[in-house]
Amino acid sequence: MSVLFLGIFMKIFKPNFYFKNIFSVTAEFCKHNGIKALLLDADNTLCIYHTDYAVDGVLSWMEKMQNEGIKLYILSNSKPKRLKRFANNVNLPYFYMSLKPLPFKILKAIKKLGFKRKDVALVGDQYFTDILGGKLAGIKTIWLDYIQIEESKSFKFKRKIENKLKKKLKRSDV
Ligand SMILES: [Mg+2]
Repeated sequence: MSVLFLGIFMKIFKPNFYFKNIFSVTAEFCKHNGIKALLLDADNTLCIYHTDYAVDGVLSWMEKMQNEGIKLYILSNSKPKRLKRFANNVNLPYFYMSLKPLPFKILKAIKKLGFKRKDVALVGDQYFTDILGGKLAGIKTIWLDYIQIEESKSFKFKRKIENKLKKKLKRSDV
């Protein structure tokens, strides 16, 4: 993929915000940007890839956000059984097999929850599923660095492209 192509692509589908991790997404930040609800990716956003428990600090982050009135939901491409285990552990409502980057299930979730698109942001670590999906659904997007690099070759390839894209972005929390 040429650098020029990536540059053009990023101009069209630039994430609204790019942070190091979930802890930079504060209630104050959300309120300042008109965000009432977050659709959260699970793997490598809240937990290590395909594990059932959130990484340290995430549960207290969730509690703090909810106490400040920010609504939280899990929206993942994972299969129902596994996602249910994770979502139950963090005690959040969830949408499974959301087929990101396709926008249809994202839009369906927003409608079901009774929000307007402008009120919602999608948070995730993968550009070509989370960010692209959020962009295609016409909602705000918050891109995070992944928690831990995956071992598979296909993932390593994706991460390599993402790293190139990140070089064109300025982190919103520094
Ligand atoms: Mg992910």
